[in-house]
Amino acid sequence: MKFETLAIHAGQEPDPNNGAVMTPVYLTSTYMQDGIGKPRQGYEYSRTLNPTRKALQDCLAELESGSWGLAFASGMAATDTVLRMLKSGDHVVAGNDVYGGTFRLFDKVLRRFGLDFTFADTTDPENLAEALTPATKIVWLETPSNPLLSVTDIRAVAEIIKRHPSQPLLVVDNTFATPYLQRPLELGADLVVHSMTKYLGGHSDVVGGAIIGKDKELGAQLAYLQNAIGGIQGPMDSFLVLRGIKTLPVRMDRHFENAKKIVQFLEKQKSIQQIFYPFHESHPQQKIALAQMRNGGGMISFVLKDKDAARRVAEATKIFTLAESLGGVESLIEVPAAMTHLSTQGSTLEVDAGLVRLSVGIENAEDLIADLEQALKA
Ligand SMILES: *Cc1c(COP(=O)(O)O)cnc(C)c1O
Repeated sequence: MKFETLAIHAGQEPDPNNGAVMTPVYLTSTYMQDGIGKPRQGYEYSRTLNPTRKALQDCLAELESGSWGLAFASGMAATDTVLRMLKSGDHVVAGNDVYGGTFRLFDKVLRRFGLDFTFADTTDPENLAEALTPATKIVWLETPSNPLLSVTDIRAVAEIIKRHPSQPLLVVDNTFATPYLQRPLELGADLVVHSMTKYLGGHSDVVGGAIIGKDKELGAQLAYLQNAIGGIQGPMDSFLVLRGIKTLPVRMDRHFENAKKIVQFLEKQKSIQQIFYPFHESHPQQKIALAQMRNGGGMISFVLKDKDAARRVAEATKIFTLAESLGGVESLIEVPAAMTHLSTQGSTLEVDAGLVRLSVGIENAEDLIADLEQALKA
């Protein structure tokens, strides 16, 4: 079956008891057992598994071309659970412009537990190879990255890693692209991580995270950790993400249509120094983006010539809401240096103060452009 069909049906059957078409929200913590150690359908306790969460997990697995999926309370809970596969002394190579919260977890929290991190420019696979050590257990990519939308060649990185003696796992945070635009497991990644808070949920009404993979042993190890640590997604939130995913392909197409028109508008603005958009001809990895992604997505960043103007513009829009997060149907605007990426201040990952990030929603493109036009004059 094709992606659009899977987005609506994968993991979801009409309820066998009553025919309900939508997956019920199973608000239960525990399940009746037919005898001691004889759970009815494998369900014992909802931290371990819940039918609504299972439907979402199965759907995610199919969409990412995996064989299993796990849903978490947030993207960070998913990320943290992946890192719990490691032990003190292990080393991780991560992209040098990963999501601010990922950087904070790695650099400020997990270092205290004896994990070592190197942040490298992953857009150059050779440069990334130099950062590998005999202790490297994970290579963590974000492509397109946040907030600079830099693109990494997943296949090239996977090939380099497989030749390295430490055989690290390749993990790709696929939040910005979603499986509709890009499927890292098909390109050689071992694990895909998502913040489902963003495009998968798609309506800015839920926080969630996911890990998806192919290898069954890895799946068993991570399901064990999910249950042991307990950062699971609840049934109501699982339902909201399941519902959001049904319209993912339609939304992603419209996000792209709108983003394309906005990029064309931004190109003509003299107040703008640089635009960051994966499919734009000025993008240094445009060729890789075109080969690796179905479309350019809905995220655009740009740098204003006047650094102080970034805050003014972000506070002057009327349809674009000044807010953190991204990937919802509504358009959002933010200044990463002062908001989402504040935690990178003073580090090598610090972002330009004049940078503005747009999460282009699915409103009317002309309305969005008119809004940006008046804000840029502010
Ligand atoms: C938001 C985000 C995360 C963190 O996810 P939460 O759901 O907020 O915990 C991780 N990676 C990327 C790329 C994100 O945008």
